[in-house]
Amino acid sequence: MKIPESTSQSESGFAAPAKLLDGKLLSAQLKEQLKKELSDLRERFGHVPALVNIMIGEPASSCAYASSQKKVAGEIGIEYRLTSLPLEISQRDLIAYIEKLNKDPHIHGIMLHKPVPKQIDYRLVANHVDPAKDLEGINVENIGKMILGETRIIPCTPAAVMEHIKSSGINIRGKEAVVVGHSEIVGKPLSLLLLEQYATVTVCHVATHEAGKLREHVSQADILIVAVGKPALIKGDWIKKGSVVIDVGINRVGDRIEGDVEFESARRNAAYITPVPGGVGPVTVVMLMRNAIEAFKIQNRK
Ligand code: NAP
Repeated sequence: MKIPESTSQSESGFAAPAKLLDGKLLSAQLKEQLKKELSDLRERFGHVPALVNIMIGEPASSCAYASSQKKVAGEIGIEYRLTSLPLEISQRDLIAYIEKLNKDPHIHGIMLHKPVPKQIDYRLVANHVDPAKDLEGINVENIGKMILGETRIIPCTPAAVMEHIKSSGINIRGKEAVVVGHSEIVGKPLSLLLLEQYATVTVCHVATHEAGKLREHVSQADILIVAVGKPALIKGDWIKKGSVVIDVGINRVGDRIEGDVEFESARRNAAYITPVPGGVGPVTVVMLMRNAIEAFKIQNRK
């Protein structure tokens, strides 16, 4: 990817602010690659991948994400179906529905939108999604394969973070990578992906913060990824000079969306930084589509 030039020189004149890792630009480039791959698949198999997004009830937060998925699927040429199930659906009925999709040869990918209502055990239901159709990499079989470095379906947000790191041009091997946040969907899988590429990985979480050690670890990071959901948790003056900073956090602050990193001050120290919004988010949606293509290829044994 071509990195956009910094917009201005810092006032001191000594250091240029970090270059932006522009998620819209990167996602446009990745979409072009996927379109080419899809046209090859269409030629070989006569049809394209179809995915189903299962949404239970219609929480407003989910709808914005679903409409952006639909738009990106349309741009690439993937068939996208959104199923809205009733909020009061039982776990048994939800599993029966998923198993029906598992058996449907016209459906290649399944995703289960979070949040799910109280009566649903998300982990249990996730394990009923056919591993070959599991677009979010949430089935325990795919999680296990990640540890072995064998999976072809990588959870979407960690995959987007890895694409951003790649686009910065940094050689991951031997670098200090610090991941703040250890959730199942972002921090943990990401730390495995970084480890696989021989980064020295430190994972920080709420207890690191409580022990007053967050600054100490963050300031060592050549590559810093923050996925917590707390605005301004990471102060700009903690950031190591010349580092790559990927801010996954999404926080509504008044009428603005902000990440977890103090952007302006961090930008004075980092070499590359993702903006929020417009950083990781747009690439995450494209990674879902890449997984749909990967799932299609697995099912067609390509
Ligand atoms: P999550 O499940 O709530 O996990 C947050 C993590 O942060 C947990 O591991 C938590 O540790 C840790 N944490 C909490 N307070 C902390 C502190 N003070 N210092 C250090 N670590 C702390 O959230 P998530 O689903 O991973 O999402 C994280 C953020 O990324 C959210 O803002 C979310 O909206 C955003 N997100 C963005 C995208 C995207 O595509 N851009 C995708 C997914 C998520 P404990 O569990 O031990 O408390």
